[in-house]
Amino acid sequence: MQKFSYDPLYLFINGNWLEAGQRDTVPVINPATGTALGRLPMAGAADLDLALAAATPAFDVWRHTAPEQRARVLKDAAALMRERSEHIATLMTLEEGKALTESRDEVLRAADYFEWFAEEARRIDGRVVPANRPGVQQLVKRQAIGPVAAFTPWNFPAITPARKLSAALAAGCSVILKPGEESPATALALARCLDDAGLPKGVLQIVFGVPDQVSAHLIASPVIRKVAFTGSVPVGRLLSQRAAAGVKPITLELGGHGPVLVFEDADIDAAAAGGAANRFRGTGQICISSTRFLVQRSVYARFAEQFVAATRKLVVGDGMDPATQVGPLANPRQLEKMEALVADAVAQGAKVLTGGKRIDRPGYFFAPTVLAEVPMSARVMHEEPFGPIAVLRPFEQLEDALAEANRLPYALSAYAFTRDARTVLDVGDGLEAGMIGINQYRIIATELPFGGMKESGHGSEGGIEGINHYLTNKFISQA
Ligand code: NAD
Repeated sequence: MQKFSYDPLYLFINGNWLEAGQRDTVPVINPATGTALGRLPMAGAADLDLALAAATPAFDVWRHTAPEQRARVLKDAAALMRERSEHIATLMTLEEGKALTESRDEVLRAADYFEWFAEEARRIDGRVVPANRPGVQQLVKRQAIGPVAAFTPWNFPAITPARKLSAALAAGCSVILKPGEESPATALALARCLDDAGLPKGVLQIVFGVPDQVSAHLIASPVIRKVAFTGSVPVGRLLSQRAAAGVKPITLELGGHGPVLVFEDADIDAAAAGGAANRFRGTGQICISSTRFLVQRSVYARFAEQFVAATRKLVVGDGMDPATQVGPLANPRQLEKMEALVADAVAQGAKVLTGGKRIDRPGYFFAPTVLAEVPMSARVMHEEPFGPIAVLRPFEQLEDALAEANRLPYALSAYAFTRDARTVLDVGDGLEAGMIGINQYRIIATELPFGGMKESGHGSEGGIEGINHYLTNKFISQA
């Protein structure tokens, strides 16, 4: 087999692919081996100013480009992503760690978003509103909001940038994107597809750097008219404050602590086996993951037995190995966090049904872990684990399950398993979550709005809703 070589890393500013040169660099590490894949150039203030200077002229070109042409570029880019999907998926697995099958799926779904929003670019219409005064014509227009600063994390290095870029570019915005520094080559490969598809220079720019410095610099600039962020709640709060200082709208997709309600009339096998697959997919580093499994007491023992059996069957390893289902954690911070959460729960009386410790091999591996009898005071009952830890808890009545599900400030995803029509209505109505799966764990689709409530954020990405926050309303009233 030909040896795969990791892509060189750049900043992409005003249509130029800039090498490190004199800039600071940081290593990009393969989390399955702990070895360096390459060195990432970090943007300094002068680079960010170059990007800001290019963003407005590029916006003027792009927003005046015919919708059909904008759509053509996005569709051609999607086709290139599909053509290059094997290469991009391999980059992703090397730098982020997830199983190659998952990386392949992610690249194809990222391409789906560009196709979906290419179509939406052609449907940005307005309204003619009847006036209450004779001879007056009232037009409501929706226009691209302006240059966007977007920040995406390391865990979904293709689909998270894709959700933001596809909608913003379809709307006619220019974008400066700062992807996660831990998995940079994937976002650069998507940008290369857009560049090769004919996106005018400066419409998309990619920078890396010290995250806090980059976001402070970009958001403070009057050039930026809109901010979008995916990541943790504390950083989301900070960026909200920065956006507020410049009275700029912000879309936030933050963390979750997904509850799963399993009722005694449910298909317990599907809930348990599917639950283990869902919880440990992406090594649990997924904001919409199911974390707290709340199971009606009469079926709790059966559910726990099946869930643990399914967890033990999962193959953990290097994502490049075709047998692997669960890869490493993305970085040592994550590994230390899992150890701390388990130690804290056990010290307070929790039982480890399986896993509970790091795996003794190079890289950042932690065994898929199932905890039971976890006291409410344990950290894992409040903090998003964002890793391979599941918590099982019995409940008596629907009301108890809903109260526990809605207890936290997180409200991103929630799941329920039941065959009872009344219970379906009650959980659909009562669960506080932006996205709810009933009798299934696969809840994401290009045509659906992705987003949370409460501290999980606001604004939707995807669906017909996804383009709205890159547009602004203007009316023209003509006498
Ligand atoms: P973090 O909050 O430090 O970083 C998350 C992302 O935000 C990273 O890409 C980082 O580069 C970026 N970031 C951090 N500080 C920033 C700043 N001041 N300005 C702009 N961007 C900034 O978290 P982490 O250590 O990478 O992960 C820890 C936790 O973050 C996880 O346990 C999880 O709770 C949460 N997280 C959530 C998601 C999600 O999909 N919602 C993704 C990644 C991390």
